[in-house]
This record gives sequence, structure tokens and C-alpha cells, in this order.
Amino acid sequence: MTTAEPQAQSKPIPRPDEASLEFFEGARRGELMLSRCIACGAWLAPAARICTECLSEDLRWERASGRGVVFTFGVMHQFYHDGFIDELPYNVAVVELEEGLRLNSNIVNVPNEAIRVGMPVAVTFSEQGDGIYLPRFEPAGD
Ligand SMILES: [Zn+2]
Repeated sequence: MTTAEPQAQSKPIPRPDEASLEFFEGARRGELMLSRCIACGAWLAPAARICTECLSEDLRWERASGRGVVFTFGVMHQFYHDGFIDELPYNVAVVELEEGLRLNSNIVNVPNEAIRVGMPVAVTFSEQGDGIYLPRFEPAGD
């Protein structure tokens, strides 16, 4: 009787769809693309379908500054998916962009111990595999 070695799982990679394609193509170019309401100017989550401020459906894609501050963060010491086991401990952060929108991401290029709420950060993009890039944030001079 043989036993199979457990197969190390890789990280799940997001798959762009029609609604999110502009976000992922922007990330590949190194641009943070978000939805923006034409009626009231609010910045919205990528691939939003309706404005959360004024309920308008008149949205378009715009390039955000990519600058913001750490709004809050946590450091994960347990893994919930095998693909992340090699990265423990890793941080999960909410970044408040200059545009006012808050995005879930990770802070990179700094030790977890040095991350602070209110720390100025700027977007950078990391390749996840299969040509998919995701926005991360790194400390920025202020
Ligand atoms: Zn609006």
C-alpha cells in the first residue's frame, strides 16, 4: 500500500471577469484603477455596479493616486489556506486611500513590527502567477 504525499497547495489566484477586467489590466500596467461615480464623484470599490453614495449607476474607471495611510491592520499567525503557510506571520491591512476609499490589502517591504496605524503608504504591485497582479502597499515618505 502506498500513501500519496500531500500536495502543497498554491495560493488561490483571482480570475478577472468582465466586471473586473479594467482593475486587473491596470494592475498589470502598475496603475490602481477604481470605479468612480460620474454623478457625485465618489470613488468606489473596483467593479462597483452602483454608487454607494448617491445610488447612480453612471460609473466609470479612473486611475487613483495609489497613496493613502494604514487605517488598521492585523498580523496572521495561523494559516487558513495551505498556500499561505510559507508566509506566516503575514499582515492583512485596510488602507485608506487619499480618495477616501478603503481597500483590503497587505503592507510589504517593511517588517510587521514596524507597521503603524496612520503610516503613509503607496501602492506597488506584485505578480501572483498567471500574469495576475494585485495591489499591495509599501511605506511612503510624507
Ligand atoms: Zn454617486
